[in-house]
Amino acid sequence: MTTSSERKDAIYEVVKDIRPDFWMPFMIGSLLILLVVAFITDYNIRQSEKVLGEQMADKGIRAIWLFENVVMEKVQFKSSEARNDYIRRLGTEDDFAFIAVTNNEGRFLVHSNMQKIGSYINIRDNDEMTGFWGRVERLLPNKDSQGSRWGFVNINGERLFLVHRVYGESVRQGTIRFLHPEITEFLNTQNVNHVFAAIYPKTLQEDIAKYRRKAFNLALWILGAASVILWMFSLINKVVNTRKNMRVAEKTIKSMREEVRQLEKEVSKKEKLAAIGDLAAGVAHEIRNPLSSIKGYATYFAEHFPENSREHKAATIMVQEVERLNRVVGELMGVSRPTDIKKIAIPIDGVLESCAAILQADAGQLGITFRINGRGKVISMDPDRIKQAVLNICLNAIEAIRDEKAGGVQKDYVIELKVTERDRNYCLIIKDNGPGIDKDVLGRIFDPYFTTKAEGTGLGLINVSKILEAHGGSIEVESEKGVGTVFKLYLPKRG
Ligand code: ADP
Ligand code: MG
Repeated sequence: MTTSSERKDAIYEVVKDIRPDFWMPFMIGSLLILLVVAFITDYNIRQSEKVLGEQMADKGIRAIWLFENVVMEKVQFKSSEARNDYIRRLGTEDDFAFIAVTNNEGRFLVHSNMQKIGSYINIRDNDEMTGFWGRVERLLPNKDSQGSRWGFVNINGERLFLVHRVYGESVRQGTIRFLHPEITEFLNTQNVNHVFAAIYPKTLQEDIAKYRRKAFNLALWILGAASVILWMFSLINKVVNTRKNMRVAEKTIKSMREEVRQLEKEVSKKEKLAAIGDLAAGVAHEIRNPLSSIKGYATYFAEHFPENSREHKAATIMVQEVERLNRVVGELMGVSRPTDIKKIAIPIDGVLESCAAILQADAGQLGITFRINGRGKVISMDPDRIKQAVLNICLNAIEAIRDEKAGGVQKDYVIELKVTERDRNYCLIIKDNGPGIDKDVLGRIFDPYFTTKAEGTGLGLINVSKILEAHGGSIEVESEKGVGTVFKLYLPKRG
């Protein structure tokens, strides 16, 4: 049987499920996926920008290489005009903004646009203290193993992809015929060492933009797919949870029903008892007195006839039947009697021993051993009523053993009376190794009038439970077919 707090929990479980519980994990999951996708996309874009930048740098380096060869006159031209023209085209065609040589201060010595010669390359950054070379190093962060550098730079308000190389030693030693009359002097006196190729980054930017769009689309797709999967997962999860909760709810309802049924049973039992009580109290009282005189006469007759005569036998049977009637009446009165008990605190030993003494004759005949354990406990009780309860239970055990023996079973039978303590109760244990009780019978043995015996009244155990109830105690039974039966009588330590 479930307790009421367990039931509340179970109901809460059911109610909780009505709330949409999968949004939280769904949102968190989506956010995580978003972060991962963003990270991967960002990494991809950076990577591709690097590759595209390298391709662009390659283009610039190749142009510079050509330029150097032309300047060194390794390539022959018909005239110096043709060569100048070639340099001009090299630095202007195919996305090139310019191609030039500067000295250490950044002054143009050679330029594809001759008008620029003598002016300064206008690359600036925040730190003007580092000088020209420091600026180049900082503004062009990418470089290759040959010492070429590249990067994006603003020159005169224009964003350009600038490739730089230190003018080779061999170049300086080569015969250089100069392109502008003014330069000759410069080159002879200055330490020439920087070549720049500037490229309009339009195509690069277009490529990057295209790639970004692609990466972004891919990220969106991944995100969408992941969300759908996640959503499906949480849906499945919800279904599973709902099922689980349904099962809990079903179980709870079942146990509630079981409880209601139990209560109904108890009520009907109480009603039955009340009815018996009224009737029995009256009838039993009327029957008691005549019964004792009938028994007296029957005993008298039995004594006055020879032992084996029919009359003697009849009188003896009469005595036995009257005794039985007496018992039934006694039990009936026990059930109907108001539960007035007079508690006193006395050792239980007396009760146990007097029970054993009363039952000794019957038990001895059947070869049953009585064992008493746990003497000395002082218990607050009505000793007469407790004795009656113990007697009833022991009588049942003896009767059960008698029936089993009659069926031909041979065993060393033992009835054990034992007193222990459990929590706030004393526990009086009455254990037999008789035939035990069938499972389907066990639940009914406390019902009034329930008996499995031809001669039974079915009122013994109901009396016992009434007696314990009146003491504020309770009774439990365990039994296994073929092993035996244990009754546990709980009596509170403090009344
Ligand atoms: P009665 O003894 O008149 O049958 P009780 O209320 O005393 O009525 O007992 C009810 C039933 O419980 C008995 O008929 C018997 O079937 C069963 N019972 C009780 N105690 C034992 C026991 N120790 N061993 C086997 N069966 C028992
Ligand atoms: Mg009985």
